Amino acid sequence: MLPTRGTARLGGFLNGIVRLSALEADVRRPDAEYGNRFSLFTTTTLHEIGHAIFETALSASQQDIVMSDYLETLDAGVSVPAGEPSDQGTQHLFIDFLVSALLGYGRPPRSAGASRRRIAAFGLDLWRQ
Ligand SMILES: [Zn+2]
Repeated sequence: MLPTRGTARLGGFLNGIVRLSALEADVRRPDAEYGNRFSLFTTTTLHEIGHAIFETALSASQQDIVMSDYLETLDAGVSVPAGEPSDQGTQHLFIDFLVSALLGYGRPPRSAGASRRRIAAFGLDLWRQ
């Protein structure tokens, strides 16, 4: 765990190392985005591990599937946010579904079941029977 030195980011992943800011190291601080059921430490750690999985474990074709999905999501929206589409936005689409799938909790359209199916559609079948 290393200080993230005043950047707006909660954590980071670079060169195989996941960083978390001291703020996220407080395991008692709940994450409202996940209904306060999980700590910001847990969700931020999984988020950054999600970057690691996207960058190091997904094949180029799996990354392409995620990017296509992301572009479709942007097309379906009212407006495209400034700076999008981006690699960061593509990774965050993957990560949002991954974290909800791993936690078994998410709000629609990222319920746990929908998220598991989406992750499987990206070619990562983590819940194979
Ligand atoms: Zn991120």
